[in-house]
Amino acid sequence: DAKQSGRSKYSFFNADMLNLSSNRLMLESELHKALENNELFLLFQPQVSLWNEKIVGVEALIRWQHPTKGLISPLDFIPIAENSGLIMPIGEWIIDQACDQLALWKDTHMSEATLSINVSAKQVLHQDLYSYIEAAIERTKIDGRFLELEITESVIMENINETVRILSRLKKLGVSIAIDDFGTGYSSLSYLKKLPIDKLKIDREFIKDIPNDKDDIAITNAIISMSKSLSLKIVAEGPETKEHIEFLQNSKCDIAQGFYYSKPITIVEVEKLALHMSK
Ligand code: C2E
Ligand code: MG
Ligand code: MG
Ligand code: MG
Repeated sequence: DAKQSGRSKYSFFNADMLNLSSNRLMLESELHKALENNELFLLFQPQVSLWNEKIVGVEALIRWQHPTKGLISPLDFIPIAENSGLIMPIGEWIIDQACDQLALWKDTHMSEATLSINVSAKQVLHQDLYSYIEAAIERTKIDGRFLELEITESVIMENINETVRILSRLKKLGVSIAIDDFGTGYSSLSYLKKLPIDKLKIDREFIKDIPNDKDDIAITNAIISMSKSLSLKIVAEGPETKEHIEFLQNSKCDIAQGFYYSKPITIVEVEKLALHMSK
């Protein structure tokens, strides 16, 4: 008996879990060095107007080129960065990169494009984003309205009043604010009118089975019409097929960001594609 409960007690620490946590610790210590060793880089995914099929913006998506493990997805290291506090210096690096890029785009064919960056809950609630972004805008002399911050619903619901206060202050810098992965978080819609937001991004989950899934069609149409009533711009995440695009155009969705138009690519490729699509 005692032996059995003893066994079950210790069976918590199986080899898999040990591997998992030591792997995590290892990645965390390697992530510390990744920033200084220039192993982190950004790819950019175009956001295309569904009205004229021109590139109106790009989203910056982080990647980690690990010296031995190869390319690591943000889904695997952003959570580690968030839990370890590393998300702060990484977040600052991204803000600098984004503002530098917007400065380079001044007086080019990209001068009207927005650049979106993902901001995690930790950054919104615990980092002085306002001061950092204010300084970056001043340093690069960019127009703040071309910088967009993407925030997920879960960030907002974690601390709604504090988030409203912080986002309202950020808006004073001219930056725009988008709700990312919309529809997957807590479905309290009342916060939408409290928040100083400009854009909703419908999660790919609702797009991928269109036109086969009638519920997804209904939900997507409802989100689009709601965002119009609230004067919010609307972006569909992850359209991959001609059918997706045609549906979204018929539904009067403004912008699409998905593999149909482009995967995340380098900045040089974005600039070329934008030129090509402007013709
Ligand atoms: P997200 O912000 O919702 O970004 C969209 C994700 O969907 C990207 O994955 C993109 O490659 C993928 N995607 C876009 N179109 C399609 C499509 O047509 N089909 C499919 N299958 N996927 C598509 P990615 O780059 O792996 O990023 C995953 C998530 O990691 C992001 O989701 C975001 O939450 C997070 N992330 C990425 N970069 C950063 C960053 O710089 N900071 C923070 N805090 N989070 C980031
Ligand atoms: Mg995003
Ligand atoms: Mg998203
Ligand atoms: Mg997503």
